[in-house]
Amino acid sequence: MNVIELEDVVKRYKSGEEIIEALKGVDFQADRGEMVTVIGPSGSGKSTMLNIIGLLDTPTEGTVRLDGRNVTDFSEDELTEERRSGIGFVFQDFHLLPMLTATENVELPSMWDTSVDRHDRAIDLLERVGLGDRLDHTPKQLSGGQKQRVAIARALINEPDILLADEPTGNLDQDTGETILEELTRLKEEEDVAIVAVTHDEQMLEYTDSTVRIVDGVIQEVVPA
Ligand code: ADP
Ligand code: ADP
Repeated sequence: MNVIELEDVVKRYKSGEEIIEALKGVDFQADRGEMVTVIGPSGSGKSTMLNIIGLLDTPTEGTVRLDGRNVTDFSEDELTEERRSGIGFVFQDFHLLPMLTATENVELPSMWDTSVDRHDRAIDLLERVGLGDRLDHTPKQLSGGQKQRVAIARALINEPDILLADEPTGNLDQDTGETILEELTRLKEEEDVAIVAVTHDEQMLEYTDSTVRIVDGVIQEVVPA
């Protein structure tokens, strides 16, 4: 079963007098262990789609199912809980807290969870992304690639089903970007997560299981990887 399913999703924004239709009936799915990349020109609806999958925004029409559950019926509390435990986010500019160490940054999304093994899991994740010798470093003591690895470990701390990445290689040079893509490819299988990534990075298409092109709110083609 696909862990992410969008069916005929429409999103309209009101901008003054004008109504903008950012998504015009989008069908989309992704399964665990799969990386799907979304490409398309600026303003085509990529961020809107990612925000809807990440439960940061709601569709105007259509159905969103995560793990078979229709999230359009969820209460605010259920949405918050699902966002916290079911979805990890990775951003272009890392979004790490500068005063915290790598380990503390990774643990942060699990602070509400009192089970003691969160600390061990944070260390384990950091070791698995090759940062076992950087556990107590703060972001400014880390390179861009290392910061993104911390961010990936943080996104996985609550054992999500879904990892959403907005331009994950956008601030990295080509070689570093490649190592991050290798890391994501490995982790999607180890952690059995569905990864949806928005990108302009051509290099990313070599690592993805499928690619979706969205133009003007419409999925125009599904490009085989
Ligand atoms: P990119 O997709 O290149 O990262 P953005 O997501 O920042 O760019 O913005 C894409 C387009 O969406 C831009 O034209 C921007 O003006 C518009 N946009 C983004 N957020 C809003 C908003 N809250 N209100 C109006 N327009 C927005
Ligand atoms: P992309 O990520 O592909 O650049 P977006 O999803 O950001 O595209 O934007 C799609 C369209 O929706 C654009 O026309 C943008 O201006 C508009 N848009 C996005 N967010 C908002 C918003 N909060 N309010 C009004 N318009 C928005």
